[in-house]
Amino acid sequence: MSDKYDLVVIGGGPAGYVGAIRAAQLGLKTAIVEKRGTLGGTCLNVGCIPSKAMLQSSHHYEMAAHEFKHHGIDVTGLKLNLKNMLARKEKVVDDLTKGIEFLMKKNKIDYVVGAGEIVEAGKVAVSPGKGKKKQTLETDAILVATGSEVTPLKGVTIDEKQIVSSTGALSLPKVPKEMVIIGAGVIGLELGSVWRRLGANVTVVEFLDVALPGMDAEVSKNMQRILKKQGMTFKMKTKVTAAKKAKTGVTLTMEPSDGGKKETMKADVVLVAIGRRPYTDKLGLEKAGVTVDERGFVPVDEDFQTNVAGIYAVGDVIGGAMLAHKAEDEAVVCVEILAGETGHIDYDSIPGIVYTHPEVAAAGKTEEQLKEAGVEYNSGKFPFSANSRARCNADADGFVKILSDKATDRVLGCHIIGPQAGDLIQEVVNVMEFGGSAEDIARICHGHPGLPEAVKEAALAAGGRAVHI
Ligand code: FAD
Ligand code: NAD
Repeated sequence: MSDKYDLVVIGGGPAGYVGAIRAAQLGLKTAIVEKRGTLGGTCLNVGCIPSKAMLQSSHHYEMAAHEFKHHGIDVTGLKLNLKNMLARKEKVVDDLTKGIEFLMKKNKIDYVVGAGEIVEAGKVAVSPGKGKKKQTLETDAILVATGSEVTPLKGVTIDEKQIVSSTGALSLPKVPKEMVIIGAGVIGLELGSVWRRLGANVTVVEFLDVALPGMDAEVSKNMQRILKKQGMTFKMKTKVTAAKKAKTGVTLTMEPSDGGKKETMKADVVLVAIGRRPYTDKLGLEKAGVTVDERGFVPVDEDFQTNVAGIYAVGDVIGGAMLAHKAEDEAVVCVEILAGETGHIDYDSIPGIVYTHPEVAAAGKTEEQLKEAGVEYNSGKFPFSANSRARCNADADGFVKILSDKATDRVLGCHIIGPQAGDLIQEVVNVMEFGGSAEDIARICHGHPGLPEAVKEAALAAGGRAVHI
């Protein structure tokens, strides 16, 4: 048998490892090249998983400190053990990344540790690091799944100690007294929530006049109000222009986004969270003739093929929503097409979730997008304060909003702030995938008392007949 692979995947994140597994299931001889030393990519190692582990732990801490008493549970002597909290997070990451390694073995995928470089279509050179032998893998197809990295901010150099990226912010050895977060996006609000709950004074500095830009405006506005009420401070329409480090902390210089009077602010820790950019360092794209766009993303066609035959790309590196589930689904579709099957991804119904408390979840179009497109729509809204389960749980901030086409009632969008919004949105996503209507949701029996009843009520409200409000 030839040593040649059918597919070599570069990058072991959600796009890469899921693509490799699907390829192996379809009978393709597959190798995966990852330089990090562990599989799972950004998501498992320094992204989705450790951040959600810390969000969960810090939520428990905040509940015990401030909320249990409302349930008749008095807690005395409560103490934060940050070392153990961080250790638990590390163990979750460790177990899950090892699990991916097991899946590679189970699916007979060759896991090659090292940095992959495309020599030309059909050839990937792998450098495993100092003192180890370089090897070249021959293959029919190459799948680029090299993901993304933190976007740097001029004048604010990350050292992962005082000025951190999300990676450093997941492992701070002590709770900062003053923490400044640059960017009121998903990372800023999630990790800001973690450290605020653990005791930091958190100030979020945002360039625009909205938090979570791109989300439905009503959601962004309400979420910022809720986070403010929880104790987060927001400084909007402001840009940070410089950071000066000293032993005692960092002094940031900032000014209004459109120019004006400078001011300074001191912090013990600064988190830079202004977005992520595609990562293609030393990948050999240029040599192989693969085009990248002006922002560094790798353009692909509908089969996820780059401009060079036999070289494909999926996940964060091709742009669009930088989400693990979007990356995974693209990889599956790409590999299925490669194996001669058909694949499909519906970008209109990819859920986006912010794991603050309450959570924020969105799918489909926002009201602003529908208005701009001139689409006539119904909006059905139901607050969690009128949902009996949310009241039992003493967790009733937020609402469900369903947007449906005025003429056909087809669901076009759903926007939720609320407890377990990230789980609740899935019902609506499923209905959207099947081209369903608000009335379809409204006529489905929902268990009582349950949070999903708020989704049903919002669907009823879209038809002007909510029951419990
Ligand atoms: P990545 O996960 O970035 O994986 C790419 C891999 O390729 C990396 O391991 C890298 O080491 C490797 N690589 C790069 N170049 C080479 C090379 N030349 N040779 C070998 N290996 C190489 N998304 C969600 O959906 N939900 C969340 O809750 C969520 N939370 C997040 C929290 C944080 C703090 C961050 C930073 C991100 C979060 N994301 C979340 C986004 C999510 O992590 C990414 O969308 C996802 O990881 C993208 O997957 P990917 O496979 O395209 O890239
Ligand atoms: P983001 O794009 O969500 O937010 C960046 C924020 O920074 C925006 O509000 C932007 O206006 C602001 N900004 C940009 N430049 C600025 C400047 N100079 N000064 C002040 N503010 C500035 O990016 P992020 O929060 O860094 O997250 C990166 C990616 O990771 C996102 O695309 C997201 O999809 C993904 N992610 C997802 C999850 C999740 O799904 N729960 C969690 C974390 C990260």
